[in-house]
Amino acid sequence: MAMSIAEELAQIRSKGLYRATRLIKGAQSTRVMLDGHGALMLCSNNYLGLADHPALSEAAMAAAKRYGTSSGASRLVSGTMELHHRLEAALARFKQTEAALVFNSGYAANTGIIPAVAGRGDVIFSDRLNHASIIDGALLSGARLVRYPHCDHAALARLLEKHRGTGRCLIVTDGVFSMDGDLAPLRELVELKTAHDALLMVDDAHGTAVLGVHGRGSAELLGVMEAVDIQMGTFGKALGSFGAYAAVSAELRELLVNRARSLIFSTSLPPAVLAASLAALELVQSPEGRALREQLLANTALFRGLLRDAGFSTGEGTTQIVPIMSGAVEQTMRFSEQLLDEGVFVQGIRPPTVPAGACRLRCTVMATHTAEELAWAVDRIAAVARRLEVI
Ligand SMILES: *Cc1c(COP(=O)(O)O)cnc(C)c1O
Repeated sequence: MAMSIAEELAQIRSKGLYRATRLIKGAQSTRVMLDGHGALMLCSNNYLGLADHPALSEAAMAAAKRYGTSSGASRLVSGTMELHHRLEAALARFKQTEAALVFNSGYAANTGIIPAVAGRGDVIFSDRLNHASIIDGALLSGARLVRYPHCDHAALARLLEKHRGTGRCLIVTDGVFSMDGDLAPLRELVELKTAHDALLMVDDAHGTAVLGVHGRGSAELLGVMEAVDIQMGTFGKALGSFGAYAAVSAELRELLVNRARSLIFSTSLPPAVLAASLAALELVQSPEGRALREQLLANTALFRGLLRDAGFSTGEGTTQIVPIMSGAVEQTMRFSEQLLDEGVFVQGIRPPTVPAGACRLRCTVMATHTAEELAWAVDRIAAVARRLEVI
């Protein structure tokens, strides 16, 4: 007999993997009201604090007044509006690519782009720690999925060799890994993709607007902007808005418009969202944007340093995503619950988001945190960790 829904839920609970959402009152700021208690936000991807920046909300309001609240259809029906066009032009300038295409979310972008460029008979090489939306895109594509060990370009080289001559090859990687905060070895991946005549796609959800002097992302930081075939990124994180993009050649854009099902069969983003994204792009290229990036770097260095001083290991990463390894599932959840009691909001991350045995608290630093807030948070984290014997 099939398992009932109640039994399935009970099973999720008994494994300690039950998930529920928490209600935030007010905006995604550094200080939030959570289930009625004040807390320091330490788990938002609103890295530059743009999610409640007046430049974005005013642009959104003006666009809603002028263009209304919906795009009314898919891009290919009646849903390509002036603002889609302007945002794509601004993106292509920002990323220095021939063209750009806007998607409804990062999830929709990855599940649209990957099956558009790889299918039956092709091979997708994907880093083991890539985001779930990349895996879903790869599974949806019908191409063969080969997962290579995390950031291990030597292993990838052997796998590429092994699959030589088997159709189109796509190498796909997070630019900044979403749960570890480390960087993909993009220079080595570019060498491999050139040697093996493969396409390289970088998902820069966490690098866009953050990394590189101009905020163009991990490819700018590592000096390989021209060599990445598909630079995908999102507007919902550092850019403080919603949606995603692919920065590509004109030819690839044409293919995506013709083949990406999440673009073809879904109503496009509404005017207010597009206008907020446009305002965010402008802002991150201004002196204010550069100052916010510098502040985020300083805050990240401070937070990572304080954690190290307190005896934590924070892994290989250097970015604003800072994992604190926390042992088993139960202990991880206790850790995050007790931190919330202390007024620090950090999520415990469990399987299937991370591999079994790699549970962690995923802390994220924002440019808008003060040094005092970060020092206080590390104090609280260390106190709870000692109580739970994590350190
Ligand atoms: C958040 C994220 C996505 C999904 O983007 P959304 O716009 O939130 O759907 C895709 N890839 C990575 C690496 C992410 O971190």
